[in-house]
Amino acid sequence: MRNIIVQKYGGSSVANLQKIMRVARRVISYKKKGFNVVVVVSALGDTTDELLELASGITKTPPERELDMLMATGEQVSVALLAMAIHKFGKEAISFTGAQVGIMTDSSHTKARIIDVNTRRIRRELEKGRIVIVAGFQGINIDQEITTLGRGGSDMTAVALAKVLKARMCEIYTDVEGVFTTDPRIVKNARKLDSISYEEMLEMASLGAQVMQARSIEAAGKYNIPIHVRSSFSGKQGTYISKEVSAMEDVLVRGVTLNKNEAKVTVCDVPDKPGVAARIFEKIAKGNINVDMIIQNVSRKGYTDVSFTVVVGDLKKTIRILENFIKKIKAKAVTYDKGIAKVSVVGIGMRSHSGVAAKTFKALAAKKINIDMISTSEIKISCVLKKKKGAPAVKALHKAFGLGR
Ligand code: ADP
Ligand code: ASP
Ligand code: MG
Repeated sequence: MRNIIVQKYGGSSVANLQKIMRVARRVISYKKKGFNVVVVVSALGDTTDELLELASGITKTPPERELDMLMATGEQVSVALLAMAIHKFGKEAISFTGAQVGIMTDSSHTKARIIDVNTRRIRRELEKGRIVIVAGFQGINIDQEITTLGRGGSDMTAVALAKVLKARMCEIYTDVEGVFTTDPRIVKNARKLDSISYEEMLEMASLGAQVMQARSIEAAGKYNIPIHVRSSFSGKQGTYISKEVSAMEDVLVRGVTLNKNEAKVTVCDVPDKPGVAARIFEKIAKGNINVDMIIQNVSRKGYTDVSFTVVVGDLKKTIRILENFIKKIKAKAVTYDKGIAKVSVVGIGMRSHSGVAAKTFKALAAKKINIDMISTSEIKISCVLKKKKGAPAVKALHKAFGLGR
């Protein structure tokens, strides 16, 4: 089947019934244009956060399987309501859970990866002329357990469906007009980008630009899936995400990101001898926890401190693992700090230009912002600083690199 378009509507686009009706009208307009439309929907507004809040009212350490059972309900509500809205306007639509359309994942609850998607059911419904609506963010593992794909995972559902259905375009509808040089809610004169490469978008998403889930961009880049990020409240062109085009390289810094969702963990007084760091991070990896920045202090009398960052959601688990483990490696204590933010500047152009680090540090220093940790790659520089300095740092860097309108 040809002429398939996948459209994903984020939670903000379906936050209330009026917005759901508006989405229904837009979907129908694409059907009328002759597209076979597959719609992916997220949970209404802040539903997922509210569900997590409910869980934490019961226990601080809910079983991850049950968290997935709970979180997956959010998307089931929105797909059904959207299908009803489309029916009301006289068109045929059918809604599905991830499991129903065969979105098969591995078993890592709360951050499962899609292994395979069975397109039979979707194709059959499209052939009947129906609009197909799929619950984002969820799948099913080999034991028929419901899984979720990590926060923002509806983007992943959309990209996966676009790939297996060979869609012409994967449209991501959200509450801003596209991808901006930085979060337009923090910097008023942030500039909308007409296009961005997968590589830069992946880096920005990994570093905190919430507008697209990082994993979904990784997959889109791998399979060259064209993505259009745009507003569900207007008809304007948004941002196209595609392969690198040479003109993009002229730009030194593409954007600035802020991530307030990480915490710093420090293992204090670790014996400074070979193999200790390996044991610490092996232990954490076994807990299925991703570590971001790592810093080891200069050794003092045979001891050192090792600090690293993890996403806040993994903090409790990390501390639990390490509290038992530090005795084994003869370290003294483990401490953490949730009051941090990570600010990053991103751009492919950095590969061939120097001076970005110096300019970054200078801009922060001018605002008297202290840097706690630094990490770099060939296309980004990240600084960890105090949480309340996050937004001022983003503003300072956005200005210093001349990214505004
Ligand atoms: P949705 O509910 O549609 O999935 P998200 O909240 O996940 O929406 O993502 C959209 C939000 O991402 C925007 O409201 C904006 O505040 C934030 N954001 C952060 N960085 C950027 C950026 N560089 N460009 C656009 N939006 C960004
Ligand atoms: N509802 C899920 C979340 O809030 C998935 C998504 O929005 O993409 O993370
Ligand atoms: Mg999102």
